[in-house]
Amino acid sequence: MSERSKSRQRHLAYVRLGVLEYPSSKRCSDCGYTVAKMPLNVRSWTCPECGSIHDRDINAERNVLAAGLAVSIHAEAVSPVSL
Ligand SMILES: [Zn+2]
Repeated sequence: MSERSKSRQRHLAYVRLGVLEYPSSKRCSDCGYTVAKMPLNVRSWTCPECGSIHDRDINAERNVLAAGLAVSIHAEAVSPVSL
C-alpha cells in the first residue's frame, strides 16, 4: 500500500470515528458494559458489572483511544455494538 493510500485510509478512519455516536462516557473501559443513562452532572460512577470505579472523563478518553486504535490499526468500522 502506498504512503498516499495509507494516509487516505487514516483520514477516513478519523472521519468515521468523528461522526460516530459512541457512548464513550457511559461504557465501562474495563469490561465493556454500557449504562443506559448517565446525566451530565455524574462525574464518577461504579460499573454495575465489574465494580470498576471510573472518572467520567478519563473513562471516556480510554474508550475513544481504544476506538481510534481499532480504526487506525485494523481499518475497522467502529460501532457501539462492535466494541
Ligand atoms: Zn465494568
